[in-house]
Amino acid sequence: MKISEILKRKERTLSFEFFPPKKVENEQMLFDTIEVLRKYDPDFVSITYGAGGSTRDKTLEWTLRVKKQYGLNPMMHLTCITATKGFVDEIANILKANGVDNILALRGDIPEGFDRSKMEFEYAYQLVKYLKSKWDFSIGVAGYPEGHPESPSLEKDVEYLKMKVDVGGDFIITQLFFDNSKFFEFLERVERFKIKAPVIAGIMPILSLTQVKRFVEMCGVSIPKELLDDLQGKSNEDAYKVGVDYAIKQCQELIENGVKGLHFYTLNKFNATEEIIRQLKF
Ligand code: FAD
Repeated sequence: MKISEILKRKERTLSFEFFPPKKVENEQMLFDTIEVLRKYDPDFVSITYGAGGSTRDKTLEWTLRVKKQYGLNPMMHLTCITATKGFVDEIANILKANGVDNILALRGDIPEGFDRSKMEFEYAYQLVKYLKSKWDFSIGVAGYPEGHPESPSLEKDVEYLKMKVDVGGDFIITQLFFDNSKFFEFLERVERFKIKAPVIAGIMPILSLTQVKRFVEMCGVSIPKELLDDLQGKSNEDAYKVGVDYAIKQCQELIENGVKGLHFYTLNKFNATEEIIRQLKF
């Protein structure tokens, strides 16, 4: 089912992100996570695409699997890195033949030393445009409440986001963020640039201080000082509790302010996400 249609009909969506396990021995963890989280009746689940196109077969395999095996509504992530038009056609054909209606169209992070001149799609908007010109998918695009690390400014970043929506991006899913004020300011910019696509908030439950520091560094997002102070010196178990409590409050505030959807970056684990959504009213 098209996510754009669900967004039109529902006040708010609930969704989960999974990544395709590289090793067979890690698959059980994902099976268990899907088993638990499917009880919460997600509107869709998304399957990530490995950096540098490293998991393309696995991403496709798991996209089809969550639909066939679990009856979930999948969205496949697809990046421009190494994607040729022929490859995109091939993937799109398989998805359509299997009743998959949703793609998250991304550029992907450019690997070091990668020759950008060889890319058939240099930016995500080109991939969105190509997909829309040939296929009838509901297309999601990435948004960055604190700006994409390569962007010259927050304004420019939203200008580029508008390009993705203008050529066919149906909805926006944000990068993870911990500071709601950054998200609300982002929504103001989105409105100012007359971007009409609904914005789904990306939520990352904190599992440990080490994990949060890694993501903060990787994605260029900020962590509020009070949260960081609360996490400092805590055992992993206590940091987990702080993280869950924080995410519950964060999501409650987003819901109170009319957020169109919550998309949980589960990291293929169910505990924290389940604890959080049990406390929320959807
Ligand atoms: P773009 O929208 O193309 O933007 C990339 C950069 O170029 C930005 O700085 C932008 O401001 C700038 N830009 C855009 N258009 C132009 C233009 N016309 N001229 C000049 N500059 C321009 N990565 C993966 O590898 N696999 C995944 O599965 C994955 N899933 C993600 C899911 C979400 C919800 C999010 C938010 C990110 C995800 N990413 C994933 C990360 C993403 O691929 C990177 O952040 C990547 O660096 C940018 O992708 P994009 O689609 O936002 O790119």
